[in-house]
Amino acid sequence: MLLKDKVAVITGAGSGFGKLTSKLFAKEGAKIVAVDYNEESAKETVEEIKKDGGKAISVKADVSKDSDVKNFIAEAVNEFGKIDILFNNAGVFKPGNVEEVSFDDFKTSFGVNVDSIFLACKYAMKYLKESKGVIINTASAGGIIGFPQAVAYGASKGAVISLTQALAVDYAKDGIRVNAICPGTSKTSMTKETLEDKDMCNAYLSPIPMARFGTVEDIAKAALFLASDQSSYITGHALPVDGGWTMS
Ligand code: ADP
Repeated sequence: MLLKDKVAVITGAGSGFGKLTSKLFAKEGAKIVAVDYNEESAKETVEEIKKDGGKAISVKADVSKDSDVKNFIAEAVNEFGKIDILFNNAGVFKPGNVEEVSFDDFKTSFGVNVDSIFLACKYAMKYLKESKGVIINTASAGGIIGFPQAVAYGASKGAVISLTQALAVDYAKDGIRVNAICPGTSKTSMTKETLEDKDMCNAYLSPIPMARFGTVEDIAKAALFLASDQSSYITGHALPVDGGWTMS
């Protein structure tokens, strides 16, 4: 087991990467704090983990809200006594170019995708210092290169990569590693609508050297690598999990 007795706080744990990663980390021995603003979906993740013999709790939170973030970090410590892994994964995708995306949606993208990481790290850092823990942030290949019709998403994910680097440099001396995962286009509920459009689907698929979209399993395996000692000398890295897209 790669994460035996570790405590992992995972946001956006109700669906997509967050859900599968929660289940994979639990299988590897971690106790899971499943955070999502969709309470039902987070509870479902917890039930599935418990059915497999794992330990988990769910916490309802809007990750862009200061008081909610403070609360789920406190709940994690109350329940399990420590935090070893913080996986900042919750995110939103507001499609469109600069003329189409409203200023409110632009700000929401930064609130959910970026402010959330700032806040969770702020409140969890004390505990991560004690555990010499690990932070993983879900960025995106769209934070490295330009994605079509994704101005708000791309800008916010670029900020996630910069934030990851800054955190890694500041906290390496405390034994904390901080890395980001940069999924390319993966088939999840977030991309469902975009990929149903044939032209958009082709536009996203054609530049991928491996000629397939990513899966949630592809991302969860990368998260496990970054969460475990398998990546003990890696920090500040933004790891593309994108079938070679950003390299082509
Ligand atoms: P992906 O599969 O790419 O992770 P999803 O849309 O399936 O994308 O998952 C994103 C998760 O993040 C969902 O479970 C969603 O409920 C959650 N989420 C979105 N916005 C917030 C928010 N403000 N606070 C907490 N969780 C959120």
